[in-house]
Amino acid sequence: MITVLKSTATAEQKAKLIKWFEAQGVKVHVSDGEYQTILGLVGDTTLIDDELVDALEIVEAVKRVSEPYKRVNRKFHPEDTVVDVNGVKIGGGHFGIIAGPCSVESEAQILEVANSVKAAGATMLRGGAFKPRTSPYDFQGMKSEGIELLEKAKAATGMPLVSEVMNADHLPLFENVDVIQIGARNMQNFELLKAVGRTNKTVLLKRGLANTLKEMLMSAEYIMSEGNENVILCERGIRTFETFTRNTLDLSAIPALKEKSHLPVVVDPSHATGIASMVEPMAMAAAAAGADGLMIEVHNDPANALCDGKQSLTPAQFASVVEKVNKIREAIK
Ligand code: PEP
Ligand code: MN
Repeated sequence: MITVLKSTATAEQKAKLIKWFEAQGVKVHVSDGEYQTILGLVGDTTLIDDELVDALEIVEAVKRVSEPYKRVNRKFHPEDTVVDVNGVKIGGGHFGIIAGPCSVESEAQILEVANSVKAAGATMLRGGAFKPRTSPYDFQGMKSEGIELLEKAKAATGMPLVSEVMNADHLPLFENVDVIQIGARNMQNFELLKAVGRTNKTVLLKRGLANTLKEMLMSAEYIMSEGNENVILCERGIRTFETFTRNTLDLSAIPALKEKSHLPVVVDPSHATGIASMVEPMAMAAAAAGADGLMIEVHNDPANALCDGKQSLTPAQFASVVEKVNKIREAIK
């Protein structure tokens, strides 16, 4: 249930109403917009009399929200959320470009990639230290050593770091990682979602391989319900009957997620296609469809990458993508 307040409502009147709602056993999420304040009620609202609330002097409207996700819902928070990662903004007109290798492999590799993607226009550096691999015999990531190398790249470039966590017990290692990635395979690992929801770090939530958008929004709700409001949604392709590409990029997820939620939406054309030559056209399409950013895999030597070389761009190819994406963004302004 949401209660829209009149712009004339005073702080005292608002506080009194919030207290009254809380006394009815519900939690109140306050969204102070430029023109209006919206009170989102979470919990069992069945005993609250809509008509009584609607009749209050400071109330403009009362609406029942049918969707099971509340904090994530745009009805609770009509304006786009702008996530601020150490001064790098994403959402609400701020376009974020996250780039870097699938996996951190060595100090020389991550430093070279970090410097080159920064020069090309990336705003954040990605790099996997803990890798979710289909085979237990494949490279599993450099783990804590990988995080240390990312920290060196951050010190050298000033770029915020994005890296995937697979186990809540590893969270203390992520102290200097700015954005915690929840990978596709863990989108419904609810205990992990709750654990990152209790941190103060931005969370990049990737869509599961076979998950609906509603399920994705419910996963974001898990994070937000623990108090962490800094969530970025990431469409990274879903599994379909098509085998030409690694996954099928669901471009329609962008307007759909943005209609239903206020959270920023980024697109990962690397995992969505699995093919380096398809990353540029899909990145341009995502920007044209209104994405708030991109996440792209870049490697200094894709042919010899320890993970996902086939879909990784060289720094020069990445620079071309950024240039074309910027032209698209300019064109649709
Ligand atoms: C990744 O970003 O490196 C990754 C493993 O992605 P996903 O979880 O989308 O497969
Ligand atoms: Mn990868």
